[in-house]
Amino acid sequence: MLRWIYERHSFWGLPCYACGGSDGWHTLFCGWRSNSYIAVACCRKCGAEQFLKRYRRPVSDDGTCLAQWEYDVLCHLSRAGYAPSFLLPTVFRFAAATCALSMQYLRGETMDERMRRAVDRRDLDDCLRVSAMWLRGLHATPPLRDKTGNGPATMLLRLESDCGLLAGRNAVAARALLYMRSCLHRVSSLPVELVPLHGDFKASNLIWTEDGIYGVDIGMRFKNAGVMDAAQFIADVLLNRCSMKAIASEYDTAAVLGVFLEAYDDNSKHKWQITAWWLLYFLLSRWEEDRDGWKPSIIVDRAYVSAVAEVMAFCGRNGFAEAA
Ligand SMILES: [Zn+2]
Repeated sequence: MLRWIYERHSFWGLPCYACGGSDGWHTLFCGWRSNSYIAVACCRKCGAEQFLKRYRRPVSDDGTCLAQWEYDVLCHLSRAGYAPSFLLPTVFRFAAATCALSMQYLRGETMDERMRRAVDRRDLDDCLRVSAMWLRGLHATPPLRDKTGNGPATMLLRLESDCGLLAGRNAVAARALLYMRSCLHRVSSLPVELVPLHGDFKASNLIWTEDGIYGVDIGMRFKNAGVMDAAQFIADVLLNRCSMKAIASEYDTAAVLGVFLEAYDDNSKHKWQITAWWLLYFLLSRWEEDRDGWKPSIIVDRAYVSAVAEVMAFCGRNGFAEAA
């Protein structure tokens, strides 16, 4: 049923990039994600293969058409030219009426699949390094929009209000929030470089191909501290570490952070402290979101308590623990 709908031209409203035809598609794969429908499809007329994506929600909160924004971001970045470590899919077409776009299909495996498959620390560190280098490439590009996101003080205020219930119920969450408050002054006073943010940087948004590492789903909505993307990525690794056999049994925040930050740019102590602060930020905000999801809250709590406690212990070992 899904396939039948996905193979119709009208569902996507996109002409084939190669021949301009609108005869519909043969789908090799079709599926959906939380915010989009996706397909790997071949044009019925000429056979050209392309990746199709249609947003489920056509406009963002500020009224931008999401497909057009993604199209503009990829065009902008391709004009900026990229380093060999920083690759992007070629974007083909977009259709505002259906909020869909087409781009090059990338044959490869996602970085999170690769990290799960890694047999030892060396393999896993390679994944961390190439991910960090890709991110460095993105952050070196000119921003598409000259808008700066909120700083740590505003973000923490919002987090404290969103996590009020969570902190009331869970001592680890409460301690982490207090700790973040106690370090706010220090974290705000450290110098940061404002860069175009990915906004959803995680291993499943990187694709390992024979040609190199490609990144997808780039937000680039505003500029902010680059370390925020790095911390979001590491928070995701920390939460999924049980499925990664190379680190499942002996996870060490310092080692993961060190390898990533060294490849990104700066492995100094002050970078560690800012990254740890943002790690706590992303863990706490995701914790609250995940509790509203489909997973039983006891399982969600267990994963987050362990991840947050690990980061707090890391801060303590490194002398960052002003509130401890
Ligand atoms: Zn065609």
